[in-house]
Amino acid sequence: MEPTGLAAAGLLGGLNYSTMLGRCLSVGDEFALPFSILKITFFLGWFYLCLYSVKRSDASGLISNTYRSYFNLAALAIGPLALIVLFIADTIRRLSEGDLDIRDVPRYVMDSIVGHRKPKRRVVHNAPAIELMDTTGRVFADVYSRQIRSRSHEYETQIRTEKMTLDAIQSRASDILIDPKGDSHYAVRFRVDGFLREYDVLPAQKAQPIINSLKAISGMDIAEKRRPQDGAFMARLPEGQVYFRMASSGVLGGEKLAIRILDQTKGPMKPSEIGFSPEQIKLLKQIVEQPSGMVLVCGPTGSGKTTTLYGLLQTVDFAQRNVITIEDPIEHVIANLSQIEINTRAGVTFASALRSVLRQDPDVICIGEIRDSETAQIALQAAQTGHLVMATMHSSSNMAAIVRLMDLGVRPLLIASALKVIISQRLIRRLCPYCKGPATLSQSQVEYCERSHLDAKLLLEAHGCGHCAGTGYYGRTALMDVMYMDDALRQMLCNQTISAGELKEKGDQQFYATLRKIGMQKVIEGQTCLKEIKRVTSQL
Ligand SMILES: [Zn+2]
Repeated sequence: MEPTGLAAAGLLGGLNYSTMLGRCLSVGDEFALPFSILKITFFLGWFYLCLYSVKRSDASGLISNTYRSYFNLAALAIGPLALIVLFIADTIRRLSEGDLDIRDVPRYVMDSIVGHRKPKRRVVHNAPAIELMDTTGRVFADVYSRQIRSRSHEYETQIRTEKMTLDAIQSRASDILIDPKGDSHYAVRFRVDGFLREYDVLPAQKAQPIINSLKAISGMDIAEKRRPQDGAFMARLPEGQVYFRMASSGVLGGEKLAIRILDQTKGPMKPSEIGFSPEQIKLLKQIVEQPSGMVLVCGPTGSGKTTTLYGLLQTVDFAQRNVITIEDPIEHVIANLSQIEINTRAGVTFASALRSVLRQDPDVICIGEIRDSETAQIALQAAQTGHLVMATMHSSSNMAAIVRLMDLGVRPLLIASALKVIISQRLIRRLCPYCKGPATLSQSQVEYCERSHLDAKLLLEAHGCGHCAGTGYYGRTALMDVMYMDDALRQMLCNQTISAGELKEKGDQQFYATLRKIGMQKVIEGQTCLKEIKRVTSQL
């Protein structure tokens, strides 16, 4: 029975019962009870209301997690009074944030008094084929309805949120961004093939419940709108599970959400699918079979370094070697290897994880990213002392990677002895196979083709169709420069005959020349267009 009802029934029942008992027992004073039933019933009713206040404060999005235990203590002490204060404040907040319509207030009050009914999921034939849940597996409706109690909008919010996430997955997006536009509207954008696409523009009263629901399901405090928070949730689809990592922060005009999509339904790509040439794959297989040394994958953010790292991992024999990865975040779950996820709040950093991994007798160590000097030092020392280390690092070219390692305090001698291969890469978009056709070239492009002895008739371009959302591009491939550390390079590093600045500049020039060469091959093969090569190499 619900508290208010119980209290009333308890009081009334207690009164009747005690009167009745009193009558029955009025035969003689020796039968009078030593306590008042009325007082005990009142006391039990009050105690129940105290406990119920604590339960309600737990479900309320109004109290931030920091102050929840204090409020619970207060609720235990003052009981129903805390409940009334909480209820009024909660109603005002929901009204101001658009979670509750003024017309729904009487029904909301009734619902709160009579009891909290679990929302029933209506059967809708066009409901998205996706089920959102928090990381512990609790479904959307359960998590969200504990925090938001406006029945009329709850189901619509669920459908909108589900549709948005499903559309993002189906359009191959890597990220979903929700930002306030400054005119009481929010823009929802997807990042597809590295480029942002506008998906929808929503008025604040429709966007806010979506933001709140995503925050609730990610385990965030929905009352906290300014302080940056991060969380995670997942989705179940007929094809498998998809994980989402979300970060929120207060910005001018509202809240901003950035959601990273980690699609587990597609396995990691093989080296041949990423863009390596057959010769490069042969060389990499030889390196990966060696017991020690380091393979470094370089490039700017979003250049597909992690995909390449996963591709390289695929060539390792997991049955014969103890493979441990340290990642931030884990993008693909791979059977037969140990994967460690970075969690700075729990003290698991790349450096600390790497130190603990070295005590577990690893053969192959895979490091998500070398960011600091400690990780760089330990990784290269491990590569020198009988471990195969694969890692990624942020740098513009192969030579720039060597310079960066030196900047991080690694001795050139250690680099020369431990580093085996450096791979630098950039991603280019592939032409949409459904709408590509012969290219119309500008005068400068025709001249360029003549200069480079290229047959202009081979060049293709795409005009955009339904499959590629009008962009003309569908999927990406990598341009890679694989550099093997040879004796000449080792000699140069050990003798330090060249300055770091010179090394980087020379390396960058060489790198872009190589990229152009590989890129032009892909243009001739009809995989991409001149514009993409120009964008990536910033020349032509
Ligand atoms: Zn197309």
